[in-house]
Amino acid sequence: MIVILKNGFGESKVEDFISDIKSKGLDCHVVKGVEKTIVGLLGDTSKLDPRDFLSNDIVESAERVSVPYKMASREFHPENTIVEIGANQAGVTSCLVGDGKTIPVIAGPCAVEGEEQILNAARAVKAAGARILRGGAYKPRTSPYSFQGMGKDGIRLLELAKKETGLPICTELMAISEIGNFHNVDLIQVGARNFQNFDLLKELGRFGKPVLLKRGLSGTIQELLMSAEYIMANGNENVILCERGIRTYDPYTRNCLDVSAVPYLHKVSHLPVVLDPSHASGIRWMVGTLACASVAAGCDGLEIEVHCNPEKAWSDASQQLNPAMFEELMAKLGKYAAVENKTM
Ligand code: PEP
Ligand code: MN
Repeated sequence: MIVILKNGFGESKVEDFISDIKSKGLDCHVVKGVEKTIVGLLGDTSKLDPRDFLSNDIVESAERVSVPYKMASREFHPENTIVEIGANQAGVTSCLVGDGKTIPVIAGPCAVEGEEQILNAARAVKAAGARILRGGAYKPRTSPYSFQGMGKDGIRLLELAKKETGLPICTELMAISEIGNFHNVDLIQVGARNFQNFDLLKELGRFGKPVLLKRGLSGTIQELLMSAEYIMANGNENVILCERGIRTYDPYTRNCLDVSAVPYLHKVSHLPVVLDPSHASGIRWMVGTLACASVAAGCDGLEIEVHCNPEKAWSDASQQLNPAMFEELMAKLGKYAAVENKTM
């Protein structure tokens, strides 16, 4: 339920209102605006009647929200959320996701394979204009016999690449037990296969680092937003949504990029939306076209897999761009971004 309070009644009346709600066993999330204060009631509001609130002078309106996510909803938080990645670290160039002016690109190999490999990739993506370095250290693979990632050593190598290039780093967390290795990771990815691992989401809520939450292979938009809600309700509002393709009946691409997710998510949520054309298509030559379409659709960022020697990559070899292709694509994306009055 969302209750809108009129401003100008003084802090103590607002505090009384909130403690009254809390005495009913509910929690409140308060967003103070210039003209209004919006209070989201969190918990089981089924026994409350919104009309009862209107007897209080300071209440302008009270409504049940039709959507089950509150903190992630635009209704509850009208302003866009801007997430800063890599803030307050000497030698690291932080970047904003969701500022409406820039389209930061998260780029790098599917997996960290070794020191030289990740350093070379980091240098190449930085030179082409990427703002965040990616690389999987823990890899969710369909087969248990495929390369599972370098784990903790992979994170150490990403940290090395961050130190050299100043790029913030993004990598996937698969298990709560490994979270202790993520203190120097700037953006923690929740992969498509874990998007409804609710214990993991709750832990990331408490951990507090920015999260890139990928939509599950057959996840609905509402399920994606409910997963974002899990992280936010546990104390972390730095959530970035990621559309990475959904599974349809047609195997002509690895997945099907749902471009319409961008305008829809922007309509119903204030969270930034990043698109991943690499996992969506699974096909190298198609990545660029889908990236351009994503910019045209208004995405707040892109995640693109880049490897210095894609043919030899230990995972996702068929979809990774080489540095030359990535550089060319970045130049092209700059033109699409300009049409939207944005820069890459
Ligand atoms: C990845 O980004 O490397 C990855 C495994 O992505 P997804 O979870 O979207 O498949
Ligand atoms: Mn991959």
